[in-house]
Amino acid sequence: MIIDFRSDTVTQPTEKMLKAMISAPVGDDVLGDDPTTIELENYAAELFGMEAALFCPSGTMTNQIAIKVHTNSPGEVICGDLSHIYHYEGGGIGFNSGLSTRLLKGNNGRITADQVTANINPDDIHAPITQLVSLENTVNKGGGCYYDFEEIKKIKAICDQHHIPLHLDGARLFNALIETTETEKDYGKYFDSISICLSKGLGAPVGSLLLGKADFIKKSRRIRKILGGGMRQTGYIAAAGLFALKNNISGLKDDHQLATSIGEVLKGQSFVKSVAPIDTNIIIFEHTNNYKTEDLLEQLNQQGIKAVKMGHSKIRFVTHLNLPSKTLETTETALSMIK
Ligand SMILES: *Cc1c(COP(=O)(O)O)cnc(C)c1O
Repeated sequence: MIIDFRSDTVTQPTEKMLKAMISAPVGDDVLGDDPTTIELENYAAELFGMEAALFCPSGTMTNQIAIKVHTNSPGEVICGDLSHIYHYEGGGIGFNSGLSTRLLKGNNGRITADQVTANINPDDIHAPITQLVSLENTVNKGGGCYYDFEEIKKIKAICDQHHIPLHLDGARLFNALIETTETEKDYGKYFDSISICLSKGLGAPVGSLLLGKADFIKKSRRIRKILGGGMRQTGYIAAAGLFALKNNISGLKDDHQLATSIGEVLKGQSFVKSVAPIDTNIIIFEHTNNYKTEDLLEQLNQQGIKAVKMGHSKIRFVTHLNLPSKTLETTETALSMIK
């Protein structure tokens, strides 16, 4: 049995999801008449209490479009030091939007309102104009930790004071929502734009959504076309996203419980130096010095455990809805075989 912990993106559509996909009514989304895509966008916009949404092929695209639409080069974007938009989007902030990036050292990637205040540039011809603040929740590279919503409110107040828009990379926002008392609508109220992924823990094969005001989404649609993200019979994949939003949010709690249990098992292994706090479905552990990360990953692979490297001497496991029912027991046995 293979236990694939590489990411929550490895999930495959279930029978029910596939059924929803093949029976979806479709049109041509570039021409604006794909009914299932329109339904998905409207459903998500309503869920977040935001005016409009845009279906895109990836979370990288939704983030990059948001950055582009909110800003005008030259300028600067403020984000946490572990941000996906900085580390994993190929330098797109510079390439697509011509901006510099101000990385703030966060608490596992989470930044504070005071830090934002201290890093908004003054009106001085030497300094790039601060044009956007972007938060990530949950923080992927931060071990899936989530923000205290009170801090988000404070950050929003600072942004408003300086007329700077606030974007959320909410690829795994639902993982935070299931652990806290806030709702989608609370987030919709405090962010100018939000990106969510349907293809992570929610289990859809493809797709992300960008949410925002109607005029922002209208501009975003134009940028999506420029980036080559205008697609035709998208209803087939939008149907999977709609199914995921309607059926797969509550199951994230199970992923979190499994992650916590696996974290406990990892703590007892001799090759594990430390396990980062587990808030949601991401487990990051540091291994002892007597291994090379690549060798340890290979040993895990031979025991049927697939995982990825996440920084120096660090390995990441992610739990998701496609893991077999005996995952905990199988993982425990496999880990005990590591030499
Ligand atoms: C996965 C992810 C994205 C989007 O990645 P794509 O592979 O482009 O869909 C964006 N932000 C975070 C934090 C992510 O984990």
